[in-house]
Formats: sequence, structure tokens, C-alpha cells
Amino acid sequence: MSHYQAPLKDICFNLFDVWQLDKYWQQQSQLQELIEADTAKAILEEAAKICEQQLAPFSGEADKQGAQLKDGKVTLPQHYKIAYQSLTEGGWTSLSGDPQYGGMGMPKALSMMVDEMLCSADIAFSLYPGLTAGACVALLQHADETAKALYLPKMYSGEWSGTMCLTESHAGSDLGIMRTIAKPADDGSYLLSGSKIFITAGEHDLTSNIIHLVLAKLPDAPAGSRGISLFLVPKYLPDASGEPGERNGVSVGSIEHKMGINGSATCVLNFDNAKGYLIGEPHRGLACMFTMMNYERLSMGSQGLGAAERAYQNALAYAKDRTQGRVTEKDANKAEPIIGHADVRRMLLNIKAINEAGRTFATWVASLLDKAKYDNCPVSAQRANLLTPIAKAFMTDQGFDACVTAQQVFGGHGYVKEWGMEQLVRDVRIAQIYEGTNGIQAADFMLRKVAADQGSVLLTLLAEINAEMAATPIDAAASLHHYIDQLQSLTAELLAQDGRSQSRNACDYLTLVSYVLYGYMWYKNLTALQSSLHAESFIEEKQYTAAYYFERILPKAEGLLAMLRCDSAIMDKFAPEHF
Ligand SMILES: Cc1cc2nc3c(=O)[nH]c(=O)nc-3n(C[C@H](O)[C@H](O)[C@H](O)COP(=O)(O)OP(=O)(O)OC[C@H]3O[C@@H](n4cnc5c(N)ncnc54)[C@H](O)[C@@H]3O)c2cc1C
Repeated sequence: MSHYQAPLKDICFNLFDVWQLDKYWQQQSQLQELIEADTAKAILEEAAKICEQQLAPFSGEADKQGAQLKDGKVTLPQHYKIAYQSLTEGGWTSLSGDPQYGGMGMPKALSMMVDEMLCSADIAFSLYPGLTAGACVALLQHADETAKALYLPKMYSGEWSGTMCLTESHAGSDLGIMRTIAKPADDGSYLLSGSKIFITAGEHDLTSNIIHLVLAKLPDAPAGSRGISLFLVPKYLPDASGEPGERNGVSVGSIEHKMGINGSATCVLNFDNAKGYLIGEPHRGLACMFTMMNYERLSMGSQGLGAAERAYQNALAYAKDRTQGRVTEKDANKAEPIIGHADVRRMLLNIKAINEAGRTFATWVASLLDKAKYDNCPVSAQRANLLTPIAKAFMTDQGFDACVTAQQVFGGHGYVKEWGMEQLVRDVRIAQIYEGTNGIQAADFMLRKVAADQGSVLLTLLAEINAEMAATPIDAAASLHHYIDQLQSLTAELLAQDGRSQSRNACDYLTLVSYVLYGYMWYKNLTALQSSLHAESFIEEKQYTAAYYFERILPKAEGLLAMLRCDSAIMDKFAPEHF
């Protein structure tokens, strides 16, 4: 069974030393009354207890029990109900909710850290509160006052949960061709008919009502993605007192049998003249849903990081304990811990250096979202927008790699179920696929986030990083200048290409930008060490990990630069019969 201890020290280092968010919170009029460093630490410690004690020890059991469908009802692993009750009673489901509707109003930078812990403890479980929080974000921004007052308090309190229903069997990445239809009813509501597949938390026994946010087309909808509208479809229609009343025409057809996240119910949902309410403007549903999806995409990054953190902790403990072979000992009958072997060290350091940079990156993106929200800061909003596909794609790609590498540290014992490593690999794999595949994220990054504005947001950011590093140089991070210069010139070369060539390069380009920005994260870690009081051992550990990143990981960017400078036309020279 794999264990888990929340990395509170590193979380606090990121919040308070690297990004100094406690200072920001104190300057921000909406936050200064709500939160300071000590409150944040107390919140994180309490969240850690739930994750360490009520979820992580039972994630293997949840994997075994899975979600079960019988007679139209879905039951979840037994301990989920108790853990969910602890979350709701402690107010955790309302952590970043709007105080006007019963939320706690905490900054995203803090709730993102709780997300990471929940994902380490059990990704499948984390999806239930996670999707509800995302649905609340979409409702808060796009629903009218009546709907907000009716639904948000019950969703923040965790009494009701949320879903997002986009995918249909023939419409996954290409939502424009969806067929679910919404016909106007006489009372101003709509009647939805159609079938959605792969709907996470579409049916379960944790809450008394489920609020589905559904994409569908009005009868007069223009073709394609500009003809999609967003509807709120409750499982039970609220009665006059706002409690679950009449059963709506939405039912679960089946649940999927999957590679991982078995405790998460992935449902086929059938809408049969289900009553729904339009959210936002007609035909503007995709934009409204993207509010939710952008929030969710950051949470996907937390899934990658959360699983990778747990995988690292277990691989490290195993490497210290497992004896095999000799490093210093000359006695042929005495084996030494495998952590002495160069290759095991390589594996552990690869995971550690990426995980810690990933945590700094996640905190950065979340803090940009906070500044966009609380200060209405357009630069922060643009940067968060630019970095979101990286948080989704790079953090989940690296999360999967980390889990596979940590499994490798266990040798054959990583392949069997007993140690829980194969479950981490199975569970985290989905994060690369859902919420828009990582291929779609790369295309979004290259075409919409970089090419669409001629690289302006990215290039301005890179120039600022260069200036910051020139003003406060750190010798250990000196090589980063070279990669930023190269990235700037490569970006100009890619911007001169046509869209098809940019699409061919999108995935490797996103990876290159990510490695460079993770270098900046290690620069920020090193800078923070200069001005904070930490134990010598912590400083040394960070400095060595940073050195490993700059010497053994960042040079991968050189290969990507070379690859991206080669003509990519070869991909399109292949006719179907060549494959
Ligand atoms: C466990 C699970 C939970 C899920 N939860 C939800 C949920 O709660 N709500 C929901 O609505 N959906 C959910 N999904 C659906 C998920 O978001 C989709 O599976 C995903 O978006 C991909 O769609 P698809 O499976 O149809 O793949 P396809 O769209 O068929 O893609 C297949 C391949 O083609 C590539 N591709 C497709 N189009 C392009 C393009 N334009 N450019 C480049 N490459 C392209 C993709 O990257 C992928 O590699 C879930 C799926 C799973 C498995």
C-alpha cells in the first residue's frame, strides 16, 4: 500500500517565500480580512489531515471496489461518503467560493494546494468536489441572480454536486458536431434530448442532487461550435422551497469500466425531454463552459503533480529500504540500499526536480488568476491564459512520466498491486486525455495563445524574465539566459510559418516552452532562498535539486530546439498508405 504525507513545507515555501503571496493578500482589500499566512497554514494542515488519514490509506480499496451501477443507481466505494462528509462539514467544498453565496472566498493559490493534496490522496475522489467547484465558477460568472441564489449555496456546501456534460459518442475534441438538442418550452425553460458519454460524477450516492451543466444546440443554432448553448439541468428539479423535488428526465445508461480512477463514476447520461435552464447567451455556451474548463485545466495539472508527489514519496522510501547489489560494501553476501545506485538516484532526482518546479509553476499560475480576479489586472489574466495549456499538458505529461519512473524504482514490485504504484500509473494516465487532450492543448497554445497575438504575451514575459535575471543574477541559473534567447528567436521563426506547420510543431514547442519556464521556476526558488531563513539542510537540498535541473534536465531543450528547427513537412509527406 502506498503512503502519503502532504508536502506542507514545500507548499508554504512556494506560497510565502517564492511568490510572497501573504504580502499580496495583506495588500488586497477583498483578501486582507480573510487570510494571512497563519490562517493559510492552519487551513493547509487541516486539509492535509483529511487527505493523509481519511483518503490516502484507502485509495487502494476504492480502486478495488470502484463505482457500481445497479438498477439505475450508482454506489461509490464505502469510505467516500465519510470522507465527503468530512470535507463538507469542514467547509472544504466552499473554499474558493464567493462569500455572497456561502463560499469561503479563499484565493486560488491556496485552494490549488488543497487540490494537489486531494489528488495525491485519491484522484478519483477529488473529481467529485473538483467538478462541483468548476461548475460553481461557470454559474457565478454566467448564471442570472435567481439561479445563483438557488444553486450556489447548496453546491458550495457540498449538499449538491456538479458535472460538465460536453462529450457525445461522435463528438469529443470536435464539439461543434454535437447533436443534443434543446427545444424552448412554454415556461421559458428548455427540454433537452440527447445522449452524453464519459460524464464524470454523472450519477452517484454522495449528494442529494446533481446539477448538470450541459452543452446542447437550440433548434435555430448556427452550424459548428458557434451554435452551442449552455444549460443547467438538475437531476431533481428544486421545489418551491428549493429542495430536491420532481425527478427530471435525465438518467444513467451505463458506467464505463476503465483503466484507472475506478472510484470515479464515468457515466453515459441520457437526456429525455429533460428540463433545463439557459445559462448565459444563446449560442455562447462554449465560451461559458470554457470558464469552467479553464478552472478544471489547472486542476488537471494538480492531478499530474499530486500523483507524482505520492509516487516520489513512495519510491524514495522504497529506495532507502530495498537492498540489492553493492555500492561501497565489498562483502559479496551483503546487499546495500538501492538508493546508492547511480541510476536509482537519476530516477529519483528527475522526479523531484520536476515536481518541485511544477509546484512553483502551479502557484504562479494560480496567483496570476487571483490577481486577474481581485485586481482586474489584464496582464495577469493574459499570462494565466497563456500558461493554462502548459499547466494542463506539461504537468500531466510529467506527472505520468514521474509515476512510471517511480514504478521503475520498485523493479518488479512496482508492477504488482501490493505497493500501489501501478494504481498511480493507471489513475494519472487519464489526466493527459480528458479536459481536451494534450494534443489539443498544444494546438491551443501554439495557434491561439502564441501565434494569434504574434507571440506578444509570451515574448513580453520572456523579456521580463531576462531583465529580472539580469537585475538579480544567480550563477547557478546562468544557462537559462541562453535558452530564453534561443526560445525568443525560435518563436519568431515559428511565427513566420503557416498554420499547418505550426500545428506540426505545436506539441514539441509547448514542451520546449515548459522546460524553459520550469528553469525560471528554479531561478525563483534559488532567489527565494537568499532572502528567507531556512535550515541549512533545506537550502542545500533546494540548491542541489536546482543544479540537477539546470545540468541534467534543462539541456533537453537543446534537442527540442534542434528538432523544431528541422523542416516538419516530412509528417505531411506521408500518404495514408505510407503508414
Ligand atoms: C474517464 C473519463 C472521464 C471523462 N469525463 C468527462 C466529463 O466529465 N465530461 C465530458 O464532457 N467529457 C468527459 N470525458 C471525455 C473527454 O474529455 C474526451 O475523451 C476527450 O476530450 C477526447 O475526446 P475523444 O475521446 O472523442 O477523442 P477524439 O476527439 O476522437 O481524439 C482522438 C485523438 O485525435 C486527436 N485529435 C482530435 N482532434 C484533433 C485536432 N483538431 N488536432 C489535433 N489532434 C486532434 C486527439 O488529441 C486524440 O489523440 C471523459 C473521458 C474519460 C475517458
